[in-house]
Amino acid sequence: MKTFRHTLLVSALGVSALIAVSDQAVAQNPPPPDHPTITVHGQTLNPRTILARNMGTPQDQESQFPPHKIIGNIYYVGTKTLSSFLITTPQGNILIDSTYERNVPVIQKSVEQLGFKFTDIKILLGNHAHGDHMEGDALVKQLTGAQVVHMAEDIPALKEIKPGGKEHPIDRIIHDGDKVTLGNVTLTAHLTAGHTRGCTAYTTTVQDGGRNYNVMFGCSLRPGAAVPPNVAEEFTRSFKVVRTLPCDVQLGDHGAQYNMQEKYAKLKAGGPNPFVDPASCFYEADVEEAMFHAILEEQKTAGR
Ligand SMILES: [Zn+2]
Repeated sequence: MKTFRHTLLVSALGVSALIAVSDQAVAQNPPPPDHPTITVHGQTLNPRTILARNMGTPQDQESQFPPHKIIGNIYYVGTKTLSSFLITTPQGNILIDSTYERNVPVIQKSVEQLGFKFTDIKILLGNHAHGDHMEGDALVKQLTGAQVVHMAEDIPALKEIKPGGKEHPIDRIIHDGDKVTLGNVTLTAHLTAGHTRGCTAYTTTVQDGGRNYNVMFGCSLRPGAAVPPNVAEEFTRSFKVVRTLPCDVQLGDHGAQYNMQEKYAKLKAGGPNPFVDPASCFYEADVEEAMFHAILEEQKTAGR
């Protein structure tokens, strides 16, 4: 048991060190295990296939996905597999997730194709402190002068993300339940730790077609290969929290977490807005909570 705990701790540290660089680094060196296997809502997945689903190919991570309006004043401006969201207001715009630094020009192009100015971005938020979501923060700050807002618990990990040696910009530090307001838009930050210590889900409301909708920008709930007890406690709390968040439209840091490609195809076909899908709001939580319990079970068995 003692030996196992030691091994677990060492491997947990190894994994988090790798994750601090990026999910992609984990995908390459080493890939997550192909066990345990779970079946949720008819889909059979393991840690390796979940990461592959999220990241796609290196090319997918860098290629522009057609920028589009999701609902109200919320737009998609990310790549094929790494989400970036633009929220517009009469007083300037909010960007969620800069992704990799090399993707910032792709995001800028998408913002401009939608008819907005990149320099109108006044606030930059991030989903969680991994390079595939927040490596480009310094460059976005440099190009727009945006105020960069981070959840307190992610600050130590963010300080390690320094592309080209650039210090990670930190203009405002927020805590669970804090609000971020620009113009007529207010986002509420919810700490949903586990994947990182400061993983943050944001909620807001939008108006579209004369109706109000709750929008939830979920944070990753994907457990690492090993789940130490303190992280297990964070996940246990987070799975409860996400299920209490008001949600008609669920979004996520990877399009795969909310079937973006499928919904976008429906959007192009016309008809009711496919992104309004309350029934699937906690699909990702269902998948990752099942995986979390399967990993804990596997750890327990290995420790016997
Ligand atoms: Zn991540």
